Amino acid sequence: MKYNNHCECMDENCRTVIVGPDTRLDGISCPRCGGPVFVKPLQDNKKKVSDRALYVRKEILWKNKKHCFDLTPEQIETVLSIGDEYNKKHSYVNDLKCTINIDSKELARLVSEHIKREEKRSVRFNG
Ligand SMILES: [Zn+2]
Repeated sequence: MKYNNHCECMDENCRTVIVGPDTRLDGISCPRCGGPVFVKPLQDNKKKVSDRALYVRKEILWKNKKHCFDLTPEQIETVLSIGDEYNKKHSYVNDLKCTINIDSKELARLVSEHIKREEKRSVRFNG
């Protein structure tokens, strides 16, 4: 889903950001404090925010994760990109481990054992 606007709570101590499709932003109040909000076009933001970051922001509000309410979509974007970095490094390490640990002869032995077992079982069922 594409979001073109977001709302921000007018309360100085709250400043909750609400994202959603244009049509659903009319007449909404702050989900955190119930106060009035103003609409801001997302294009005004200095940094481009991905749909993924906006989704996370929406889920934070929807799931009522109060300790994350202060995170702006831009901050979430940064956190997500750091998470991506971690995943990239982590999956590389896992790939490396697999390459080293797989012994092809052992694997072939296990597969042929499994096939023999399956054959025995199908004989038992059919006979
Ligand atoms: Zn508020």
